[in-house]
Amino acid sequence: MSAQPINPSRRRFLGSVGRAAAGTAAVGLLGAPAILRADTPKARVVVVGGGYGGAIAAKYLTMADPDLRVTLIERNPVYVSCPLSNEVLSGERDIDSLTFDYRGLTRRGIAVMGDEIIEIDPEQRFVRGKGGARYNYDKLILSPGVAFDFGAIDGMSAELADSSIPHAWKAGPQTLLLRKQLEAMPDGGVCAIVAPPNPFRCPPGPYERAAQIALYFSHHKPKSKVMIYDAKDAFSKQGLFQAGWKEHYGDMVEWVSAAAGGAIEAIDPDSMTLTGVVEDFQADVINLIPHQRAAQIAVDNGLVDDSGWCPVDQQTFASTLQPDIHVIGDAAIAGAMPKSGYSANSQGKVCAMAVAAAINGESPPAPSYVNTCYSILAPDHGISVAGVYELKDGEIVSVPGAGGLSAPDADARTRAIEVQFALDWYRNITADMFT
Ligand SMILES: Cc1cc2nc3c(=O)[nH]c(=O)nc-3n(C[C@H](O)[C@H](O)[C@H](O)COP(=O)(O)OP(=O)(O)OC[C@H]3O[C@@H](n4cnc5c(N)ncnc54)[C@H](O)[C@@H]3O)c2cc1C
Repeated sequence: MSAQPINPSRRRFLGSVGRAAAGTAAVGLLGAPAILRADTPKARVVVVGGGYGGAIAAKYLTMADPDLRVTLIERNPVYVSCPLSNEVLSGERDIDSLTFDYRGLTRRGIAVMGDEIIEIDPEQRFVRGKGGARYNYDKLILSPGVAFDFGAIDGMSAELADSSIPHAWKAGPQTLLLRKQLEAMPDGGVCAIVAPPNPFRCPPGPYERAAQIALYFSHHKPKSKVMIYDAKDAFSKQGLFQAGWKEHYGDMVEWVSAAAGGAIEAIDPDSMTLTGVVEDFQADVINLIPHQRAAQIAVDNGLVDDSGWCPVDQQTFASTLQPDIHVIGDAAIAGAMPKSGYSANSQGKVCAMAVAAAINGESPPAPSYVNTCYSILAPDHGISVAGVYELKDGEIVSVPGAGGLSAPDADARTRAIEVQFALDWYRNITADMFT
């Protein structure tokens, strides 16, 4: 996972040296150490959030214009990928295979700073970290991901998610906690997944998760059930999921739509009871995926509208509320694009090119965007939805006839090949981010 050491070119070496000066001595560099350089950068770009959007924006900025001083600020020392994290729940993979450090980006000359940004000053153009460190910028890009609205379901809280009702919607300790709970559950037990309303991170994610948990149950606890209580009446790749669940797991996975009483209003963690609109449901393990909105830093700094998400110019990702701040990834309202890692990657590239163009006094290039979401239902059964997008009248829209769903009647070989495509996609996109 961690990239091999390389001998950086003199230019890159000097670049990394200077970029360190964009931070402060008070906070740590995540990656190889760097020292000061004397030259003045063309412009300072600060990127907050080193995930699927931010890591890519930082890297492609340095590729678009090596004379920029790029600083990536990330609160965690390593990044744990949500894509493929459902496989940790089935036991098909361990979390180490999802964990990446930032040394590859440091070697590219990006100053990667370990800090949590708590303040943005768009007038004086700086962001401030938790410990008081100040990072000045000429251009700012945020890719901070999502936050959870725990208050939307009575009785739910962040503390509960950390201790006994994990959402595991940010991969990491909660993913491991949920796996442990599944292991401890008796055969014949029920795992309830509470699926959130739209829009939310990874629309097919809860349904892939149901399949991965059923995969584990089918081998180890065959009398058990996976119940999905949904705030919606339809979901991504629905027909493909329902056919795949049936094919591999019989009646083990059951989906209850909102119309059928699946919308959950409250939880009692002591009795492990979910209160639905019509009736209550008991479970042995509850995976409550909360309602979502843009990450806290976007909320605290006036970047969200009434929807809870960040409106942006969909060509440059400049906030329409704070025009000098760009927002990409899950936090942004990006037209027809779903909230996915691949969307965040695509947006990171479009945004990096637009920011580099603006710094160089040029117009942003005509953007093109892409997304594919794979879901693995069984070790030999993958499905996908793909989209190509263009800008039309200021809005990101699907290109008619491009993309689409896996065929409903695909043969077993095609389903197995889609699993390989999913794994290749993961290897490629994480190499794109971290090397
Ligand atoms: C179970 C699951 C499965 C998924 N599967 C897929 C899939 O197969 N394919 C796919 O394309 N997508 C998938 N996704 C969705 C994907 O994970 C997200 O869409 C993607 O991570 C969004 O990227 P982002 O950059 O917006 O946010 P993130 O990747 O979450 O990155 C945000 C980063 O910002 C940091 N941060 C936030 N606030 C601050 C701050 N104030 N200061 C410093 N750092 C900060 C965070 O620590 C984090 O590292 C899945 C999601 C889940 C939950």
